Amino acid sequence: MTKPIYSLVIPIYNEEENITEMYRRLINVTSQLDGEVELILIDDGSRDRSLSMIRELHHCDRRVRYLSFARNFGHQIAVTAGLNFVQGKSIIVMDADLQDPPELILKMIEKWQQGYQVVYAQRISRQKESWLKRLTAYAFYRILQRLANVDIPADTGDFCLMDRQVVDILNAMPERNRYIRGLRAWIGFRQTAIHFERNPRFAGKVKYTFGQSWALAVDGIISFSIVPLRLATYIGLLSAGIALLMILLVLYWRLFDPVSPLIGFTLITIAMLFLGSVQLLCIGILGEYIGRIYEEVKGRPIYTLKETGGFTKTSEPAK
Ligand code: UDP
Ligand code: MG
Repeated sequence: MTKPIYSLVIPIYNEEENITEMYRRLINVTSQLDGEVELILIDDGSRDRSLSMIRELHHCDRRVRYLSFARNFGHQIAVTAGLNFVQGKSIIVMDADLQDPPELILKMIEKWQQGYQVVYAQRISRQKESWLKRLTAYAFYRILQRLANVDIPADTGDFCLMDRQVVDILNAMPERNRYIRGLRAWIGFRQTAIHFERNPRFAGKVKYTFGQSWALAVDGIISFSIVPLRLATYIGLLSAGIALLMILLVLYWRLFDPVSPLIGFTLITIAMLFLGSVQLLCIGILGEYIGRIYEEVKGRPIYTLKETGGFTKTSEPAK
């Protein structure tokens, strides 16, 4: 097989109900492309029939290659692994649940041919997702934009097309805390958006738990901003200001108005609880950063593979 031009990277975690339909729709789209295509499916430690279905696809269609993790490592890591193994010149990342319509790929490729190195899909609406998810997602992307030191476009997920140049840089980034949509924006080059309506899942349940979504959001903010660290300084300055006022006030009460009911327990309790919680909050924020430094310095591999299909030694990434 000659080297593919287009590589599709698709992370899969317990998607047995979606794989067949996804493959059908993808093939429909890729048959309209002018160049060789490879599909890289990453099984993120699925517990259902996903892996055996992927194996089967690989046997029937040699353009399908796959990686299988020894356990579940999470969506961002699955995408990272896929990107490590791609060979194409134009790389498309998409979800397996058909929330990202495969037909959009053609439009992305058009933009790529016009000279954009990154084409990301931006949601203009989310169908059938709970109001809580929509509200939190809306708020999160706006907070991130205010805090981050790079312009990470709002309402974009990982569904995108990247040029080989961009993927090579992404692959060379050593960090294991991978907030891909942020790293992609950080890299630069010519980037453009394509707007789309996010469909509901074809089948199955959302694989991201609330905890995972929360962790991804925190990762996004911590990896791209040190504003939370400065928060301690700002709150410190503020409470020092309040403290100064209070000292003067308390002295005044003590000297000129000794019966004021505010002095005593109430005041002390309020001050203690306030300062105590501010301190804990700041330690917590520090902890988030230190925890990530700890993760980075341990230098463990980002994922462990138990099985691969379709890769020869030369197509594997240099470690
Ligand atoms: N996914 C994964 N590992 C996980 C969770 C999800 O590879 O631990 C995959 C999942 O199979 C899907 C994509 O990541 O292809 C997006 O997951 P999901 O649809 O659950 O999340 P959404 O982004 O739609 O909220
Ligand atoms: Mg989804």
